[in-house]
Amino acid sequence: MVTSSESAVPPGLPSFYGLTRAALAARLAEQGLPSYRADQVFSWVYRKHHRTPEGMANLPAVLRDRFGTLCALERPAFASTQASSDGQTHKFVLTLADGARVECVSMRTERRLTFCVSSQVGCALGCTFCATGLMGLQRNLGSAEIVAQVIAMGDFHAWKDDRFNIVFMGMGEPLANYGPMMEAIRILHDPLGLNLGARRITVSTSGVVPQIARLADEGLPLGLAVSLHATTDELRDRLVPINRRWPIAPLIAAARDYGRKSGRRVTLEYTLLAGVNDRDEDALRLGALARDLPSKINLIAYNPVPGLDWKRPTREAVDAFAKRLWPIAPAVTVRHTMGGEIWAACGQLGGLSPAA
Ligand code: SF4
Repeated sequence: MVTSSESAVPPGLPSFYGLTRAALAARLAEQGLPSYRADQVFSWVYRKHHRTPEGMANLPAVLRDRFGTLCALERPAFASTQASSDGQTHKFVLTLADGARVECVSMRTERRLTFCVSSQVGCALGCTFCATGLMGLQRNLGSAEIVAQVIAMGDFHAWKDDRFNIVFMGMGEPLANYGPMMEAIRILHDPLGLNLGARRITVSTSGVVPQIARLADEGLPLGLAVSLHATTDELRDRLVPINRRWPIAPLIAAARDYGRKSGRRVTLEYTLLAGVNDRDEDALRLGALARDLPSKINLIAYNPVPGLDWKRPTREAVDAFAKRLWPIAPAVTVRHTMGGEIWAACGQLGGLSPAA
C-alpha cells in the first residue's frame, strides 16, 4: 500500500480538471489575459504533465503568480494503491476534497492500458451482484473528479503509454450523472489536452434508456456497453432493478438506435451467475437479442462479493456458454477477469480490501 502526499483541492476554487478550455479562457479573460494562454496551460498540464505553474516557461510571470487565484491544479490524493500479483492491475482509492473516497482501476494487457473510472461515489441502482450497489449512492462526482482519476492513474504510470482507453465502468451509473460525465468526456477529448479519441472511451450503463437516446445525439462515436445480465424481464427485474422501470425491449431498442447513430457496435455485458443465467435457454435468448442490433457480447464470470450468495461458474461452464453462443451471435468475447484478488474486478468496487 502506498500513501501519497498530494494536497486536497482548496475549497471555493474551481479545480483545473473540471474546466473546459473555453471555461479556462473565460476565467483568464476576466483577468485581462488572452484566450491563447488557456491553450498553453492545457498543453502544460495535459501534454507535458506539469502539476504546478512554476515550470510553465512560456507563460508570463504575472499569470504564473496569479494561477492560484484562477483554479486549483492539485489533484485528489491517493489514499491507497494496490497492485495485483502479476502487476498488471492496480486499484486506486482517491480522497476527494470533502473526504469522500472514490475507486478507480488501471488494467494493462499486451495490447493496451485501460483506465476504469467512477462516475459516482456508491450507486443508487442496487444491482444485486454488485459491491457498489450495496453502498447505496453517497453522491455524484463532478467533472473535475472524473478527469482527475485519469490524471492520477496517468501520473502513476508516468504517462509511458501514448495511447490508452477509458471505460466508465467503475463505481456508479454514469448515465445517472450525465452532465458531469459528458463534461469530463469533452475535457478528455480536447485536441489540445489529452486528445483522447471518442472511440477510446466507453460508457457503460445498466439501462437508463432516456439518457442512452441523449448520448446518441451527442454526435460522438463513444463506445456504449449495456449491462444486460439477463434475457427475461422476470430475471432482470431481480438482478438489475432498473429493469422494472425500463425493461429489456425498450433498452434493446435504445441500444439499437445508439448503434445506428454512432456507427459503433454496442457491447452487451453479460455476467454469468452459476445456475441462474447460464443455461442453454439463456444462451439462445441472448443470441437472439444480440442479433437484433449491431452488437458484440462480452461474457464475464461473476466476481465474488463478500455477503452476496451468487456463485461464480466454472471455467468449463463459461466456455460451454460461449460455445453455445458462437454460432448464433454476431460476436462473443469472454472477459479475462483482472484484479479479482485486490477486489478491483467488475462489480467489486466499494470499499472492499484484500482483508475483507
Ligand atoms: S452494476 Fe453498476 S449500476 Fe449496478 S449497482 Fe453496480 S455500479 Fe450501480
